[in-house]
Amino acid sequence: MQWYGLDMAPFRRIVASGRALAALVLASALVRILLLRAFRARTGLPLFVENYAADRLPAVSPAERLEMNAFSRCFACGRCDDGESERQRGSKGEYRGVMQFVLASSRNMPDHDAAVRALEHVPEQVLLEKEAICPAHVPISSLARFVRAKAAAMR
Ligand code: SF4
Repeated sequence: MQWYGLDMAPFRRIVASGRALAALVLASALVRILLLRAFRARTGLPLFVENYAADRLPAVSPAERLEMNAFSRCFACGRCDDGESERQRGSKGEYRGVMQFVLASSRNMPDHDAAVRALEHVPEQVLLEKEAICPAHVPISSLARFVRAKAAAMR
């Protein structure tokens, strides 16, 4: 019996439930990680990178994680798409508007390559103007910076 790669066999005979069982499982996981690290096995961030690089899922820092809460505030009102039709037409399908960029980029990290191509059709000043009128105060310019950085990291 496995639980997150942890062999649960030793717990079969232990009569514990609820918080006691949770504490036992967590203690066992801690011991396992400490042993793995003592023998220089790959754990933590290096293991994350190894596991998810093929899925094009980059790691995020604690500061980026905090920023991501604000990225996902978009509720698809469409206000930031006002006046974008000419740029959309000119992009020949690469750019579908700021709202599409915000929604896709804040919910699906492996698509950042496509998001970067969309951004090439929108000047930075326009992103700042859209940010100023966004009722959800999505930091659109910061999201663009984040997307460019993550796309570059995965190249
Ligand atoms: S204006 Fe803000 S909330 Fe509305 S679609 Fe654009 S990013 Fe989302």
